[in-house]
Amino acid sequence: MPKAPLSLPPGPSHMEGMIDASSDTSALVLFSGGQDSSVCLAWALSRYARVETVGFNYGQRHAVEMEARQVVRRRIVGIDAVWASRLGDDHMIDLRGFGAIAETAMTADRAFEITDKGLPSTFVPGRNLVFLTYAAALADRRGVRRLVGGMCETDFSGYPDCRRDTIEALERALNMGMAQDFRIETPLMWLTKAETWALAKGLGGEALVELICEDSHTCYRGERGVRHDWGYGCGDCPACELRARGWNEWVEAGRPALAA
Ligand code: ZN
Repeated sequence: MPKAPLSLPPGPSHMEGMIDASSDTSALVLFSGGQDSSVCLAWALSRYARVETVGFNYGQRHAVEMEARQVVRRRIVGIDAVWASRLGDDHMIDLRGFGAIAETAMTADRAFEITDKGLPSTFVPGRNLVFLTYAAALADRRGVRRLVGGMCETDFSGYPDCRRDTIEALERALNMGMAQDFRIETPLMWLTKAETWALAKGLGGEALVELICEDSHTCYRGERGVRHDWGYGCGDCPACELRARGWNEWVEAGRPALAA
């Protein structure tokens, strides 16, 4: 009997809606529906001709973020007609297996505390390394060379995988291991939380600030019951505290806009 022909795995030439692989005009945004990644999405939309988004389901208890990301995607295109023409596909990657290994306060019902390593219990070991590696594999298939993530070293919460040094080491490893030329862009890396609000205003005016308040979600507890000036959330988890503190500083400074 003749053997069945080998079926090739889907590669760039087999993908529909492919982006021109020779261009640096496209980007893939790691997009959780939180404040930081929503600002990163606006930043990418103001810069790249085509922007795709990727989200990760790792069993996190703020599954409400997963809904927020769809609302933000839907509404952000209403702010700017150019952005609307640039926003492309959304991708969802199932990482519940990783979540099962990396059980922490983010994925399990544990208190927010500082562990004996001096790290917050919300730290999922290597989370950004895993996210970026999956995102790079997806970007390779989509013909995208720019990855955009909201990692930030300034309001450093003790997350070693948010450091620019870590990101640069991973970028190098990905480029060596995938024979690629990726660039990992981290537009929030050196901004304070107040400056992130200012950047939102610089990118999309008060309309984007309002969208981020209303529709992005940051609270670790997944609460959306109470609407504060800075958005929804429990108000006392580490994520809410950081978001509220940045908001208050930004408002006290007169709601400045930061040029992107
Ligand atoms: Zn909260």
